[in-house]
Amino acid sequence: KVDVDFNRIREQFPVLSQQVKGQSLVYLDNAASSQMPSRVADRIDAYHRNEHANVHRGIHTLSQKATDEYELTREKVQQFINAEHKDEIIYTTGTTDSINLVANSFGNRFIEEGDEILLSEIEHHANIVPWQMIAKRKGANIRVIPVDDNGDIIWDEYVDLLNDNTAIVAVGHVSNALGTVHPVKKMITEAHSRDIPVLLDGAQAVPHAPVDVQDLDVDFYAFSAHKMCGPTGFGILYGKKKYLDEMPPYRGGGDMIDKVSFEETTYNVTPHKFEAGTPPIVAGIGFGETISFLNEIGMENIAQYEQELLEYGTEQLQRIDGIRIIGTAKEKASVLSFVHEDIHATDIGTILDQQGIAIRTGHHCAQPTMRRFNVPATARASLSFYNNKEDINRLTEGIRKAISMFE
Ligand code: PMP
Repeated sequence: KVDVDFNRIREQFPVLSQQVKGQSLVYLDNAASSQMPSRVADRIDAYHRNEHANVHRGIHTLSQKATDEYELTREKVQQFINAEHKDEIIYTTGTTDSINLVANSFGNRFIEEGDEILLSEIEHHANIVPWQMIAKRKGANIRVIPVDDNGDIIWDEYVDLLNDNTAIVAVGHVSNALGTVHPVKKMITEAHSRDIPVLLDGAQAVPHAPVDVQDLDVDFYAFSAHKMCGPTGFGILYGKKKYLDEMPPYRGGGDMIDKVSFEETTYNVTPHKFEAGTPPIVAGIGFGETISFLNEIGMENIAQYEQELLEYGTEQLQRIDGIRIIGTAKEKASVLSFVHEDIHATDIGTILDQQGIAIRTGHHCAQPTMRRFNVPATARASLSFYNNKEDINRLTEGIRKAISMFE
């Protein structure tokens, strides 16, 4: 049993106590973006009111303080995901930015004509399109690991696809559309046995369970602050130093240089060579506060609580006639994607909104996943640790009401 009072924690999220369409809000769109606790909003507000200055460039006190606070987040992230070195933590604007950085920079240096980039069939577009762009530029090819009807990768096909031309494996740690948790540790071991590096898109994993990049032995790991109770416009790329040191800068500008002349420019060291220009300072400082908040609750506790909620939600949804859950993988995290045999997902979402219940409907930026499961769209309820069984009950009542309206 989880020894944390999650209903008390919920009270720290003011946005959740509002009325929508005359009813108390049920927020189940956490995979798109999660909500922010007061202490993070307060930290951001205090920075704007009293502490703002540019970082890394001023000798004046305010700038030094802002720099210290901003850089403190790097240490917090390092500890949070257990990276070996602080300079393996690169600040980005989010998962999309992190993956584009690797696709471009690693791609420029290490991907050659005829190489293969291995993705899974259920990736978010953010972990497809950047790879297609570099593949096109370099004359490389995309290969796809198929999934079975549950949404689990087909292991033997994965092993068969790894070969001497594979430049990188890039897969989601957790699928945003189905909730599948890929067997990433095993996949990494398998890829490493052939010296192939692995990037994990951790956007839907880091918010829901402890992640240890050294234990995974992953080469690149990307995630977004706004999906884990932090601010928008901020994200992380973890990369192993042995790769980062070899990778060229991705964007040019201030801060990322060592010396500049019109004839030649030399670059700063990792991570700064990847962080051109004035960074998202306030978001970084806010994210530092977010990590302290999550650490106090404990990611193990969050994982256990959310698993109980997911199990409850799965059981309740399965009881509704005509509803089919899409994504029944062996291991799942926090996502309940479903369709009704007659009613379009958008209609379900609209009728739920009328009852103050927020879910997402559509293809979830994963059109190939929809194609694999032969559905145009799904309705998706995605959980956070501030949700509870009452939210699930409101969801299932809401779905029953939607069905009855169509009968
Ligand atoms: N990957 C996955 C699995 C996601 O769920 C998302 C966000 N929906 C992204 C990547 C992109 O994240 P962001 O929009 O924060 O860059």
